[in-house]
Amino acid sequence: MYDLVIIGGGPAGLTAGIYAQRSRLKTILLEKGVVGGQIALSDIIENYPGFSSISGAGLMEKFEEHARGLGLEIRLDEVINITVEGKEKVIRTSEGELRAKALIVATGAKPRRLGVPGEKELTGKGVSYCATCDGPFFRQRTVMVVGGGDTAVKEAVYLSKLASKVYIVHRRDRFRAEKMHQEKAEATPNIEFLASNILKEIKAENGVVSKAVIENLKNPAVKEVAVDGVFIFVGINPTTDFVDAEKDTGGFIKTNPRMETSIPGVFAAGDCRTSPLLQVATAVGDGAIAAYMAEQYIENY
Ligand code: NAP
Repeated sequence: MYDLVIIGGGPAGLTAGIYAQRSRLKTILLEKGVVGGQIALSDIIENYPGFSSISGAGLMEKFEEHARGLGLEIRLDEVINITVEGKEKVIRTSEGELRAKALIVATGAKPRRLGVPGEKELTGKGVSYCATCDGPFFRQRTVMVVGGGDTAVKEAVYLSKLASKVYIVHRRDRFRAEKMHQEKAEATPNIEFLASNILKEIKAENGVVSKAVIENLKNPAVKEVAVDGVFIFVGINPTTDFVDAEKDTGGFIKTNPRMETSIPGVFAAGDCRTSPLLQVATAVGDGAIAAYMAEQYIENY
């Protein structure tokens, strides 16, 4: 029986692990993929205090090193579901079952699919959701980025260093991305903004992406653009299916400011919970609060 099980090894989960170890809670962190989470795929992070510029993987290595240095037990294992027996949380994983007094869900989120023809069939054949993973395949080629948020604009700038040409297709003429990201993209000569446009279809030649069909919403017209790759960054879906806590319409777990969910003793932190801002800095804050509140819960168990 653990005091605390943390699910997810991104910034929120690792921070919760650091705080839990310092509180001497018997804790285990479960991660189904790679420790570090989505942010480890980010080329560069320039808004995490203390690091004016660091790669996502580099920052997450530091988090992991810190957590392991304090003795945090980290296991690569996938959670299937969670049930509550009395006050005990029962966590069924692909390798068995764990029991804990308290639980922190820090499972983050995954990229959302756009749902246009060609997208599914051509994923891995020119359609991608990760610039750092697949960008190098498009050296000196033409790519299209879809979306107007931080991910789209930031990743377009990254891709512009590899590709010869980057189009940014966004459905509105205003971008929700941070102004600094926008300014960088605007100042990049091989980035072309195609605002008020939507991607309608992705076409292939010889089994790989060859064209993107876009529609201009302001001056209604459909045209084909020759591209070698399409990167889709149209938001994220939280990884929360396995937990029955109350969620918002997007599937993000609802919490109060103490990171408490609708299930007593189950806390949520980071990108998987409803929050006005999804950043490493906010995930770290969430993780610290969740671990502190879990400790209080365990003291009164
Ligand atoms: P996001 O902020 O939700 O932006 C999604 C973008 O995709 C929006 O521009 C949206 O358009 C567009 N979109 C959504 N559905 C669409 C559809 N069906 N067709 C066409 N366009 C569609 O998602 P994100 O950029 O992945 O960011 C997720 C979170 O991570 C955000 O909180 C973000 O701030 C954070 N983040 C921060 C950084 C950073 O460096 N600070 C970097 C990456 C991510 P509309 O604008 O018209 O809704």
